[in-house]
Amino acid sequence: MSSILSGLKDLGLGNLEKKSLFGEEEKQAEVKNEPVQQPEKKQIDEHEYVFAKSHTCPVCFKDFKAPAIRQSKLRPAGMDKDLRPKFKNFDPMKYDVILCPYCGYAALGRFFHNITPPQAKLVREGISRNFKPLPEREVFNYDEAFVRYQLALGNAMVKRGKNSEKAYLCLKMAWMLRSKKEAIEAGMEEIDRKDYLQIMEELEQDETELLSNAIDGFMTARQSESFPMCGMDEVTLDYIICMNAMKLKNYDLTNQMLNVLLVRSGLNPHLKDNLIEVKEELRNLKKEDA
Ligand SMILES: [Zn+2]
Repeated sequence: MSSILSGLKDLGLGNLEKKSLFGEEEKQAEVKNEPVQQPEKKQIDEHEYVFAKSHTCPVCFKDFKAPAIRQSKLRPAGMDKDLRPKFKNFDPMKYDVILCPYCGYAALGRFFHNITPPQAKLVREGISRNFKPLPEREVFNYDEAFVRYQLALGNAMVKRGKNSEKAYLCLKMAWMLRSKKEAIEAGMEEIDRKDYLQIMEELEQDETELLSNAIDGFMTARQSESFPMCGMDEVTLDYIICMNAMKLKNYDLTNQMLNVLLVRSGLNPHLKDNLIEVKEELRNLKKEDA
C-alpha cells in the first residue's frame, strides 16, 4: 500500500499513505540507467478532446468546472485481453476522475454524486481539512491524472466506500499506468530519457501492485455486493479477475475463475477463446512442473 498512494503528502494528505485499503466499509529488480533512443515526438493537442463541464460539489456545494470528454472525438482502437479499452491518439481514462478544486472531494464520474451525507461529513473531516489545491489544468498528462486517481482512492477510503469502488479505482489506475507505458513508447508522453528503464520498471511494478489490490477488492466485493458492480455484470468481472490473476501468476485463482466461467452459457465467443487459451497455458505449465 506504500507506493500507490505516495505523493499525497504534498496535498496535505500524508496520513492516507499509511491507511489500509480494504476492510473499512460504511455499514452497508535491478535497473540499468542507459539512455534510450528518443522516439520521434508525437504531440497531440488534448484540448480538442475535452471541454470544461460544470459540476456542483456534493460535499462543499460549490460550483466548479472540470474537463470532460467529447465522446464524438473518440476513435476506439481495440482492447487488451483484460478488457482495457484503447483509443487512437488519446486516452479518455485520464479524465474519469472528477475533483472538486475547493474541498478535495474526488471520485470517478459514475460515483461522484452517489455520496451519502454521513460520507460527505467523513470527507470534510478526513480530506477537506488538510487538502491543498492542485494547480488548475485544462488537460492532464499521466502523472497529473494519476494524482487525481490517488485522491479518488484516498476519498473512497476516508468515506468508507464499497470495496468494489476501491477495487475498480485500482483496476483503472493499473490500466492507466499500462497506457502511460505505451504513450512513453510511442513518444506521446515526455519523460527524462536517461531514466527510461527505471521508469518503465517502476510502472510495471506499480501496475502489478494495483492489479493485485484490484483482484483482492473484487474478490471481497463478490461475496457481499450485488451485480451490476461498477457497471459490470458478473461474467465480465469474473473474466477480468481471471485474466489478471493469470498475468500475476496466481494460478489457483485463475483456475477457480476458469471453472466458473467456462460452464456459463452465453459467454462472448471471443472472450471464451481467450479463456480456452489461458486454460491451455495453465495445462502446459503443469506439464513443465511434472
Ligand atoms: Zn467540494
